[in-house]
Amino acid sequence: LERTLCSNDKIYLDVVQSTDLEGVTKAVTRPIQKTSQIMNLVNPIIENVRNIGDKALIEYTKKFDGVDLKTPVLEAPFPEEYLEGLTEEMKESLDLSIENVRKFHAAQLQKKPLVVTTQPGVVCSRFPRAIEKVGLYIPGGTAVLPSTALMLGVPAQVAGCKEIVFASPPRKSDGRVSPEVVYVAMKCGASKIVLAGGAQAVAAMAYGTESVPKVDKILGPGNQFVTAAKMYIQNDTQALCSIDMPAGPSEVLVIADEDADVDFVASDLLSQAEHGVDSQVILVGVSLSSKKVQQIQEAVHEQALALPRVDIVRQCIAHSTIILCDNYTEAFDMSNKYAPEHLILQINEADRYVPLVDNAGSIFVGSYTPESCGDYSSGTNHTLPTYGYARQYSGANTATFQKFITAQQVTSEGLDNIGKAVMCIAKVEGLDGHRNAVKIRMSKLGLISKDF
Ligand code: NAD
Repeated sequence: LERTLCSNDKIYLDVVQSTDLEGVTKAVTRPIQKTSQIMNLVNPIIENVRNIGDKALIEYTKKFDGVDLKTPVLEAPFPEEYLEGLTEEMKESLDLSIENVRKFHAAQLQKKPLVVTTQPGVVCSRFPRAIEKVGLYIPGGTAVLPSTALMLGVPAQVAGCKEIVFASPPRKSDGRVSPEVVYVAMKCGASKIVLAGGAQAVAAMAYGTESVPKVDKILGPGNQFVTAAKMYIQNDTQALCSIDMPAGPSEVLVIADEDADVDFVASDLLSQAEHGVDSQVILVGVSLSSKKVQQIQEAVHEQALALPRVDIVRQCIAHSTIILCDNYTEAFDMSNKYAPEHLILQINEADRYVPLVDNAGSIFVGSYTPESCGDYSSGTNHTLPTYGYARQYSGANTATFQKFITAQQVTSEGLDNIGKAVMCIAKVEGLDGHRNAVKIRMSKLGLISKDF
């Protein structure tokens, strides 16, 4: 803080007009992800874990996390001593968040099969099944993240996954993961906590080791090593393992108008900026007066100086921008093109504008809805698509932990209704076996002659 106060630089955002296309493009361009370089570091780690299992896991944990483990896995029931240091207030806070996330994700659970009769005698259905084994990565290199644990663990449990495995790097001080993460693991019915991080943890869950079960899907954020390992294993058919989504730096876009509270706007921008120097923070102003813009800048500066992570904030805000628009339509067009992970609406009658949103991970509607509420406790999921992937991906939800099976039942009447179409299309595709499977049945039923 002392070092920061010595600096005369104001912690201000750049300001561009929406008509300044070059300025806007610069503001919304995301940092390039250099995955190929990281792959060279990650590939040998994955290979070693795959070939020598637990031994490699233990060696990498010693090398990267400074912890010498006898066994890399903590099995349920987790020892009570692992909860040492967990306060009652923290337990209650986690319980409240877990309850809200559970409520919202349980409501998403589709229980009844979908059944549709497409033609008389042709019944199609679709029903969900939980993905059997999931591996949930909880980052632990630089921060304790029980919120990530509950945002993934609760929907996995709600969906009915049979085996839930957590992985998180152990602390150097005592070789354990934080009591908050252990508590969430207990509440979510996790069977194991893999005491490892980075690419080695991902590889262990993807291929399995002596002590780590091989899982079907790996989810969770993490640093560049975790992301690169997830990309690798999802492309390896031998791993037969899927992942949630590609991850990039976290980001927020706030839309504010002249009535917005400047302190609220500044606090929303800063709560994102403190994530990391590569975080993306954009304010889209709707018909903002220059006085209002200046008030927001001052509020950002003042609040930033009081934050312990001010040095990170300063670097992030240095590449953050206020884009000034003339009206709401223009502001929402801008936001839809950017497709932010988090979209905050600090505008009059904010709920009326939600239908204008086409692309966003999660929306925070109105002055009293800071992103922090969704990050921890409101009930929505905070595992969201970054890097513009909100155009085609949804955030984690109950269906993320399920797959859907379809079924069809065709009667003789149904075969009469669709059989000839099937035969016709099979013929043009040159697949006589397909055509024959229908022809044999239809001729036995007397629906077509044998030489049809
Ligand atoms: P992490 O758990 O992702 O990574 C720590 C691990 O990285 C270590 O255990 C080690 O195995 C590995 N590692 C470190 N240096 C290495 C090296 N030189 N070579 C190979 N492996 C190495 O924890 P982190 O580093 O603190 O990163 C957490 C990340 O997760 C951050 O980027 C944060 O922004 C992100 N995050 C994102 C969200 C989200 O929802 N988008 C939420 C929480 C965290």
